[in-house]
Amino acid sequence: MKVLWPLIRCAAPTALVVGVLLSPLAASGAGPEVASPGAAHAIVHDSIRGRSGGGIPFPANTRTTKTTNGISYHGGAVMNSGTNVYIIWYGSWSGNTATTILPTLISGLSGSAYFNINTTYSDSSNRKVPNSVTLAGQTTDAYSQGAVNLSDNQINAIVTSAITTNSLPRDANGLYFVLTSQDVTKSGFLTSYCGWHTHGSISGTDVKYSFVGNPGTNGACSMQTTSSPNGNVGADAMASVVAHELEETATDPDLNAWYDTRGMENADKCAWTFGATATAANGSHYNMTLGGTQFLIQRNWVNATGGYCSLSF
Ligand SMILES: [Zn+2]
Repeated sequence: MKVLWPLIRCAAPTALVVGVLLSPLAASGAGPEVASPGAAHAIVHDSIRGRSGGGIPFPANTRTTKTTNGISYHGGAVMNSGTNVYIIWYGSWSGNTATTILPTLISGLSGSAYFNINTTYSDSSNRKVPNSVTLAGQTTDAYSQGAVNLSDNQINAIVTSAITTNSLPRDANGLYFVLTSQDVTKSGFLTSYCGWHTHGSISGTDVKYSFVGNPGTNGACSMQTTSSPNGNVGADAMASVVAHELEETATDPDLNAWYDTRGMENADKCAWTFGATATAANGSHYNMTLGGTQFLIQRNWVNATGGYCSLSF
């Protein structure tokens, strides 16, 4: 196996991924405007993350000294050179407007008031996460690992293949999204999480990567299942999860930088909360416009002034 799992403190490889949990629609039947992060996280958080609960505790010398804003620094790197996003469109995406919607999101996040929240996070040298996201490359993968019940290791294999075949560059400042089409099933997706991020060594480079699946109209991972800002329920649901994993990777790329006493990263602390929303022309809800496109994106945790969920900083 090419994957190295540097965090040997954790019990199992599957414990190293950091997930977006299910929508509170699935967890409690709550309506979209009353989303509660507590409800969303009560079910499976520890079983996914593994750093709290079942995992072996960190050694004392890696524990934080910065705790005043409800989230703690554990000494690891942040993405302090900006984040280069790569997309691997896995499965069948031809003709799907997701291939426009999600790149627009990623490019639009750069310099936005929303992504600026991540500048409240810094590393041990006080280098802030810059408000910089670059859509650096895209490629396709036509089911190299099949379409049924993909494993976490198969997601790694998809990333590894894209890099080693030179479809995408090998970039330590990169975040590689494996976006699976709606027909692709994956263990845990829609039952335990909506997406996750992790990292691994590929050809000697510490590569950060993320899985986000297309939930279609499945309310387990979508707040709006009948209409959505861009008329593509699955892609619009993925947008919030992509933003979630991106901001977590920016501030906790190696799973050893910023998270709280429950093992929750910045986006986890605000998952499935959206703040003030507006009504789009088609009657769906949105809360920000990026690249001229409306999105409903979850809030993120501001690491300042005591800490709070927000759509901007
Ligand atoms: Zn998360």
